[in-house]
Amino acid sequence: MVAARVLLLSNTGMIVGGGEVSLLQLLRDLDRGRWPVTVGCPEEGAVAARARSQGVPVLIVPMPTVRGSGLLRLPSLVTRLAGRIREGQFGLIHANGSRCMLYGGLAGRRAGVPVLWHVRIDSKDPWLDPLLERLADRIVANSAATAARFGGRAAGRVTVVPNGVDLAAFRPGLGGARVRGELGIPPEARLVGTVGRLHPVKGHDLFLRAAAEVAAAFPTAHFLLVGGGEAEGELKALAAQLGLDPRVHFAGHREDIPEILPALDCFVLASREEPFGRVLVEAMAAGLPVVAARVGGVPEIVLEGTTGLMVPPEDPAPLAAAIRQILADPARARAMGLAGRTRAEREYDAALHARRVEALYADLVGSGGAGLPPA
Ligand code: UDP
Repeated sequence: MVAARVLLLSNTGMIVGGGEVSLLQLLRDLDRGRWPVTVGCPEEGAVAARARSQGVPVLIVPMPTVRGSGLLRLPSLVTRLAGRIREGQFGLIHANGSRCMLYGGLAGRRAGVPVLWHVRIDSKDPWLDPLLERLADRIVANSAATAARFGGRAAGRVTVVPNGVDLAAFRPGLGGARVRGELGIPPEARLVGTVGRLHPVKGHDLFLRAAAEVAAAFPTAHFLLVGGGEAEGELKALAAQLGLDPRVHFAGHREDIPEILPALDCFVLASREEPFGRVLVEAMAAGLPVVAARVGGVPEIVLEGTTGLMVPPEDPAPLAAAIRQILADPARARAMGLAGRTRAEREYDAALHARRVEALYADLVGSGGAGLPPA
């Protein structure tokens, strides 16, 4: 039985990062019989294409940035969105980010439909947050670190729901021989890798500096960076300057992360900020020991000494020491990987994530939501 039609709004039409990956994963796992979902995107792109490929209808809804002159268009675009909410008989708005929350929150108010704001970033927006907090009936945060962005009365409306990963896709593999062959990594190499946008916030420079220390101690160690982005040129120059060249591999952006991870012996995340860190959970689900900088939501995911090791941020020396510990003790590394897989199964199953989000939907629709009239 249909509980309510859901309009799931995306900030962007492109897959910019984990926020969109998480949205698309949720689409796969929602009970669409109870919650028929439509995705609202500001433009055509990978988000709309992937949603449609999963059989989810898409509405293109203009939601330009409201800084500066964009503010002038806000009232008419909100009116238009409210009209589409009524036409589509949506009973719930789920806004995946701040920009779409502004439009979805105002239009939801106008149409008399409850609004859930999904927050995935732990830094406050002093300009928008006070308004968005008032517009949101409930707030879902991807970690306690993100939830800490809210104080006062809003804090009581925040629920932490960690992201989920597809445990059938991300699983321990057979050593990733194909991937190693494709990337030119010798079969006998001890492979240390990271996955993420090549942006300064991800700390790839720290990873490379740590790699230089590890390389000196482990002659068979190789290093893999998966991801694309603005810092690529700079990072390649740094790798060359550190003398890492033949042993460092830049794979660029890849769509086959579940197949790449099993090629690694150790997963590293050296981020300077990390509100959640999907890649950590993906690595754990793939049975890898992780070494991560202790920032943002990372300590909520990694169990120190059990599923991996955490190190202070911004410092390559302890990062290198932790990677060396993992490489020096393969039995402990394997045990950590197994513990990570178990933890991912218990806490980060994508199906569990969807059930938790649906429980919030049910609360919202039950408490003053419009719902759908009986057929
Ligand atoms: N990702 C990918 N291909 C790449 C790099 C990253 O598919 O080349 C995916 C990665 O598997 C993860 C997401 O992008 O699911 C990144 O999410 P995370 O929370 O780690 O970082 P964010 O980009 O949100 O800061």
